[in-house]
Amino acid sequence: MRYFLLCFLFFSLYADENFDLYKLHGKEKGPTLLVFGGIHGNEPGGFFAAAILTQHYKITKGALWIVPNTNKESIIKNRRGSHGDLNRKFSSILKSDKDIYIIKDIKSLITDKEVDLVLNLHDGHGFFRQKYQNTIFNPGAWGQTCVIDQMELDQNSSFANLGCIAQQVSDKLNKHLLQDHHGFNVRNTKTKKRKSEMQHSLTYFAINNSKPAFAIETSKELQTTALKVYYQLRAIEAFMQIMGISYQRDFELDSQNVNNLTKKGGKVVINSNISLNLDNLRKYLSFIPLQSNKNELYFSHPLGGAVESNGFIDLYIGHKKISRLKKAKFIIQKCEGPFEAIIDGKKKSIHLPSEVKIMDDIVFNAPRGYRLNVIGFTDSRYKNELGIKIARPLKRFSLDKQENRFRAEFYKDNAFCGMVILNYVARKNE
Ligand SMILES: [Zn+2]
Repeated sequence: MRYFLLCFLFFSLYADENFDLYKLHGKEKGPTLLVFGGIHGNEPGGFFAAAILTQHYKITKGALWIVPNTNKESIIKNRRGSHGDLNRKFSSILKSDKDIYIIKDIKSLITDKEVDLVLNLHDGHGFFRQKYQNTIFNPGAWGQTCVIDQMELDQNSSFANLGCIAQQVSDKLNKHLLQDHHGFNVRNTKTKKRKSEMQHSLTYFAINNSKPAFAIETSKELQTTALKVYYQLRAIEAFMQIMGISYQRDFELDSQNVNNLTKKGGKVVINSNISLNLDNLRKYLSFIPLQSNKNELYFSHPLGGAVESNGFIDLYIGHKKISRLKKAKFIIQKCEGPFEAIIDGKKKSIHLPSEVKIMDDIVFNAPRGYRLNVIGFTDSRYKNELGIKIARPLKRFSLDKQENRFRAEFYKDNAFCGMVILNYVARKNE
């Protein structure tokens, strides 16, 4: 597990850790809420809501601990569980089970003495109703519920009255419905009494370790991920209000804003010498200078992930594939930079990797031994494009769908050493 104490912007490394933990602490002391998103990899409402908590919320009193990518491998594959159902392995697990370390890490987090209440986020089937109406609206549906295993905790705890808290959360949610049939209900699985398979779940493990725990289930039948995220965030906020955790967010909580936030991809930095903006990146990019294997990727988005094969790297945000990079295999080293450039006639110092805005043209200068190749800019007189004016390259070579961003690649002794993204912008008076 990797862990971030959030004070400022950071980049997260995509590597082999099970999942990431973000701790948001307020200046004033108070209770701690622990949230798990993505225990099921095909339930995006939960993991995108958790990601938005890490990116757009600030805690002023108490603490919010967030695991946005609990089942990281399954999220990328958009599968419930790559090695079976992760939420059915908390009562016992075989030593040979591939999820054993994830389960261990989750258990140690839940039992951490600082944690006061635990939420497990899901997207469930249909819309829960006390009486059977049809296959979507019925007592067996999970959607739009606050799920409890029993009415009260067996042990003493500040938040032992699970039934009462779940009802308060549902009541708060029902004041902010986008459509009437989205109404929230409490679903009590009576796990102990019925000896149901929920006895193997995360929440049941928690309540048997004296930690109040709830599952939030938004409906899979809600049409967009954003709608599910909207209700997840409303539910999490209701829990924080009931617990006395104070928070701020940097956006107005409505479905349109949530929709915009779930579409933001942030940046990825590759091998410390390429930085790509993941918003509007083309779906396929060819001949990207990369190592033959074990490329290092750092994503600014908590759900950023990559799958590397011999010829390609696929980039993901959550379950959404953003782009496929076709490898051009190079030895990778770091340019000595910064380099001097003349942008629209003005001299500037350019660090690698970076992005520069250009209206007309750019001229790069670099010491002897360096070679520049701007993709989509061809002038047969030059093999090295250092020292010559580079106007907007051919559109079809752009990195982005808007056809404004282009790659300026620096090489030294046949090793790739860094990329500058040339962002050609329109003149303001045009
Ligand atoms: Zn689930």
